[in-house]
This record gives sequence, structure tokens and C-alpha cells, in this order.
Amino acid sequence: MRQNHFLSPTLRDVPSDAEVTSHQLMLRAGLIRQTASGLYSFLPLGMRALQKVENIVRQEMDEAGAQELLMPAIQPAELWQESGRWDAYGPELMRFNDRHSREFALGPTHEEVITTIVRDDVKSYKRLPMNLYQIQTKFRDERRPRFGVLRSREFLMKDAYSFDINQEGLDKSYEKMYEAYTNIFTRCGLDFRAVVADSGAIGGKDTHEFMVLSSIGEDTIAYSSESNYAANIEIAPVVTQYEKSDEVLLDLEKFDTPELKTIEELESSLSVSKEKLIKAVLFIVDEKPVLVLVRGDHEVNDVKIKHYYEAKKVELATAEQTIEFMKCEPGFIGPVEVSKTVDVIADFAVEVIVNGICGANEKDKHYKNVNPNRDFIVKQFLDLRFIKEGDPSPDGKGLIRFAEGIEVGHVFKLGTRYSEAMGANFLDENGKSKPMIMGCYGIGISRTVAAIIEQNHDEKGIVWPTSVAPFDLHLIAVNLKNVEQKELSENLYKQLKQEGYDVLFDDRAERPGVKFTDADLIGLPVRITVGKKATEGIVEVKIRKSDEVIEVHTDQLLSTLEDYIKRQG
Ligand code: ATP
Ligand code: MG
Repeated sequence: MRQNHFLSPTLRDVPSDAEVTSHQLMLRAGLIRQTASGLYSFLPLGMRALQKVENIVRQEMDEAGAQELLMPAIQPAELWQESGRWDAYGPELMRFNDRHSREFALGPTHEEVITTIVRDDVKSYKRLPMNLYQIQTKFRDERRPRFGVLRSREFLMKDAYSFDINQEGLDKSYEKMYEAYTNIFTRCGLDFRAVVADSGAIGGKDTHEFMVLSSIGEDTIAYSSESNYAANIEIAPVVTQYEKSDEVLLDLEKFDTPELKTIEELESSLSVSKEKLIKAVLFIVDEKPVLVLVRGDHEVNDVKIKHYYEAKKVELATAEQTIEFMKCEPGFIGPVEVSKTVDVIADFAVEVIVNGICGANEKDKHYKNVNPNRDFIVKQFLDLRFIKEGDPSPDGKGLIRFAEGIEVGHVFKLGTRYSEAMGANFLDENGKSKPMIMGCYGIGISRTVAAIIEQNHDEKGIVWPTSVAPFDLHLIAVNLKNVEQKELSENLYKQLKQEGYDVLFDDRAERPGVKFTDADLIGLPVRITVGKKATEGIVEVKIRKSDEVIEVHTDQLLSTLEDYIKRQG
């Protein structure tokens, strides 16, 4: 590709509206342009990177036995009503009416469509398993689109759906996708972890998220210092064994604590350890008020509340709701003498607290020497807190550490959630009708491109891994007015293309400094510069990643490049 007529507008300055490096570099290197909030155009360089990732995904999906198809981005409301998601999905679903006032949505995901397709055409166990995928634009009206294409409102996704006759079949399909994803992200040059995740709103059991490790990641991963255990902190179980002290139980006592509302204020002004404090937080769980107790140094994990109640929605109570149910303003609520309408549940760590401190459900008052089971009744003690760094790893090996991650892929065992709701049944060997067992598997292709840049850059620009670089080589003619340089670079351009390389040829009438700065910013793996030594048939080869520079005679150029490519694996 000749750069002179190639749309790759580079920017010298860091765009002020771009917070994270990948977003800045994608704008500066001319990969993307914003069209509106959360909506981006991929310019030719960006498009090429997108296609590189897409091709890796396609190869690995095909290799795993999945079949590619393409479903419409526009989906009728009836399908979503059938699955029950039309009302459940919320404002992220972009809805619209057609000219006949029929309701539609722009697909954020395609379980409904694929389930009806398979339902209508696959009837017998003999035709299963099947795994179908597509690479397509998805739409989600994100509450906070941000970080460029990392969280946009329109983005490219690979979504796959597996159909099996039983759980073992699903386990196998899932395993295959897990392996394919591992191959894909490895080939993309990413440092990632597959982490156990929350099955969330889709309603299923086993699920892993593929997380690219990065400090800008929105998810926190709890991983073991000694094993390969990794889980989203939302679901990581706490296996700490708490010991009860043998202190003598003292009498319950109410005392004044004006202005001491938070755990921190209590801790510092009463000079007691947080481990003696009982934190009480009121939640509304599908309309039901639930008072959740954790130790002062722990944080309530609402996902665990949601799982315990098998609830749809868990929300912090508002000040008004707190007054309504606890007869007390927030800051002083506690578990002693709570109205029967309120459930009290507590984390295991609370069970062993002796002579603790908690709110007295009265303004400016707390209790001291409060003891569980004696002074208040708990419906159930269970694991309700977030795991912390230093906690034992749930697999029994090592201690928990935290890292931030960007979710690039997600594999999910759906089970019969959609097949039952939408009647996707098959006849088994005995002629009995059964719902198909499904799995779904997504990869954010555009997000993956950004994640690759987030992990592969330096102060000068992007440093593309060879597997996903928009071009393999950047050919630069220092001075095109010089006849030898012009001739040699034109010849090399032809020759390298013939050899099967994707070449970006900087044939612009720009100063060399500009060309080199742009080349570093764009970050193609290998730069070949044709300069003064063109007369001797010598060019300069520079490896972007290592900054290694060598002079090579054009006779040796092809073998030098081959060596380099081999070294990259
Ligand atoms: P997130 O938690 O980041 O919102 P999600 O769990 O809602 O993502 P899935 O429904 O699992 O996402 O979608 C599959 C993949 O699509 C994700 O793993 C991610 O890579 C990508 N993806 C999801 N939402 C976006 C978005 N707004 N912009 C870009 N990619 C996205
Ligand atoms: Mg997800």
C-alpha cells in the first residue's frame, strides 16, 4: 500500500478526550476516528488490525469444528418476548419501531435468533452436537461508553453457540471453546488469564472470562500466588477459617457515638480494631429488605447476596428505605431488635465476634459487647464478603493476589435457559423429546485490538505483535527525489509484495523525521529504510520491538526477514 494515498492521519498531540493509552494511540496512529459518543469508524489501518484478529478467530473457530453463519443485526421484539428478555434486558438494548410500528432491537447478542434457527431445522439427536458462530457488529447502549473501542456502543463481536444432547456433550463443547480461546489470545500476543466468573443475568452455571492483564482493566481478578487459580473477585469464594477468641462475654451496653457514622470514624475514635466492629448494610433484594452483616474490615459482596436469594436485583437501600425499615437513619443501623420484615444474614466472620460493636438503630448510639446469637438472631451465616489480598486461595494453594483485567472473551454454559423458553427440542434415541443443552461464547474483536495496543506499546507508539500488525513491513524512502533511492525502493516494494509480505510504502514527500516519527507511532514490526547507501544496494532494517538496527544488502534482505519472522514464531 502506498502511503501517499492511504488514509492514515497521524496526530502529534495526545487527544485530550482520550484517557487510556490504547485509545490515545488508536487516534494518534490513525486507526480510528470517533463519529459520536461510543461510535467509532475504523480507518484502513485499524480495519486491517481488526481483520487480522478476525482471521485468527476464524481459523481457530473453524479448527474447533464450529461453522460460520451470519444472522441479522436487527431482531424482532417477539423473539425477545419469547425468551423473556425484552423486559429484562433494560436500557442497554437499543429498540426501535419500523414503519409499521412493529418493535425491533439492534442485536446486543444473538441467543434468541440462533435458538430459533436451530429449533426449526434440527430435530434429532443424530444431528448434534453443533456449534455455530458469526462475526458481526453488536449494539449496546452502554451507560458509560469509554476508553474508545474498549467500551463502545457499537462493536465487533464473534459470538458462537453450541447445541448438545446432554451435559457431557456441553462440557466437551465448552472445553473445545476454552482451548480455542486460549489459542486465539496467545496468537494475538496477549498476556491473559482465564478466570472463573459470575454467571450473571444470563442465568447459567459454569463460566470463564478471558482477561487481558492491564492496570486500566475494569474487572479485578483474584489469583493465587502459587497455583493457576484465578477468579473474578465478584465470585471468588472466601475459605478463611475464623477462630473465636475465649474472651468472657460482657453485658450488652448502649453508648453515645455522636457523629460517628462510618467504620473508620468508629475505629479511630473508639480505638478498637475493625475486627470487633460489625458493619450492617441494608439492601433491597427483589423488594425484600435484607440487613447484611460483615466484619468492619470486610466489604459486602452483593453478587453473593444475589446468589443466596437467587434474586434478580440487589440494590443498596436508600436513606428513605432505611428509615422505613430500620426506623433509624443510615450510619447507626444494626442487627439488635430488628423488625421481622427484615431478613438478617451475616458473613461467617461475624459469627466469631466476641463483645463486638454495632449500630443501635438509634441516632448517635451504638452497642458495645454485642454477641451474635445472644443479642441478635441471624437467619443464616454464609460467605458474603469480597475476597481480600492475603486471604487463602480457594483451591488451598497459596494466597490471593489481585490484578486488573480487561475482559476480551467469555465462555458460558447456558444449559436449557433458551431451549426451554423457546422450545428448541430434539428427539433422543428413544424418541423422547428433550431440550437442547446450549453454550455461548463471545469475543470482543474490536476490544481485543485495543487490548493488544494497551499491552504492546512504548513512549513512541504502538509495538504490534507480528501476528496482528496491520502490515508486516514499513518501507521508507528517505528522499524520493534521489533517483537511486526512488528506483531501489520501488523495486523493493514490488519484490516484497511478490514474496507475500503486506507492505506499507511511505512514498510521501515528507521530511525523513516526519516519516520516522509516524513509523514509530504506527508501530509495524519491521521498518526497511532506503537512504544514502542505496547506491551500494544497502538498506537499513529496524525491528520495532527491540530497536535493533542492521544494515543489509538487498541480496540478503529476504533471508534476513525470514529469519526475523521465524524468531517471532
Ligand atoms: P462487560 O462486562 O465488559 O460489559 P459483557 O460481560 O457485558 O462485557 P459479553 O456479553 O460477555 O460482555 O460479550 C462478549 C464480549 O464482547 C466481551 O467479552 C467483550 O470482549 C465484548 N464486549 C462487550 N461489551 C462491549 C462493549 N461495550 N464494547 C466493546 N466490546 C464489548
Ligand atoms: Mg461477559
